[in-house]
Amino acid sequence: MTYRPKKIVEAWEYNKQWDEWARQGNWSPVGWRWVEGPKGYRLDQLSTANYLVIQRPHASVYHHSYGMTSRFFKGLIEKKLYGAKCPKCGAIYCPPRAHCWNPECRLQETEWVELPLRGEVHTFSVMAFSATPFLKTLPFIIAYVRVEGCCTTVPTRLMKINPWDVYPGLKVNINFVEHPKGDIMDIYCTPAETPDPSKRMMTQEQIERLKNDMQKVKEWVVRKFGSEAKPSIEI
Ligand SMILES: [Zn+2]
Repeated sequence: MTYRPKKIVEAWEYNKQWDEWARQGNWSPVGWRWVEGPKGYRLDQLSTANYLVIQRPHASVYHHSYGMTSRFFKGLIEKKLYGAKCPKCGAIYCPPRAHCWNPECRLQETEWVELPLRGEVHTFSVMAFSATPFLKTLPFIIAYVRVEGCCTTVPTRLMKINPWDVYPGLKVNINFVEHPKGDIMDIYCTPAETPDPSKRMMTQEQIERLKNDMQKVKEWVVRKFGSEAKPSIEI
């Protein structure tokens, strides 16, 4: 059977400027610097030498198919949360799985079900460093949230709560960003109940230390990004 590309049913086309950006950034030198740097193999006996540093911008537009989990990511664009349900054992997966993990189900293909925008915190971490795309929003809370009815947890940002008020079992609402793009960062959580202070997992001393650490992270982010800094935790 020959493969024929499917027709486009619906699309949010990427801005064509990326094509031009990718085309032009084809490793061609666009500049250079003649710099002075260290020379030698013993750190206590270095001399100096001049080196040429070439600048070549590189870029690519990466087309990536989500395959059998596509419905989940299309759902995010539509501000709906989908899970994958096994018709044999009834397990619901979110994040989705195309096939059931239960060995007894022998890779049974799952079916899509729409999920409620509610869940509870399974575990969480307060982030003081991150991958490049999220640096501007440091510090933030990553919570692994079990969506109601599901047997797995999904990593999300947890907003509008102090880190010391978070604990496993805290009920949360799942929210969508204003302009979803079909990415897991399209969703974030906010508390669905007033946190119970008796379930607090940190001592007052630990809270003070955390506040101090978060303040330092916030100062670093503001220094690096200026007015673009958007710390997710208010200290
Ligand atoms: Zn199953």
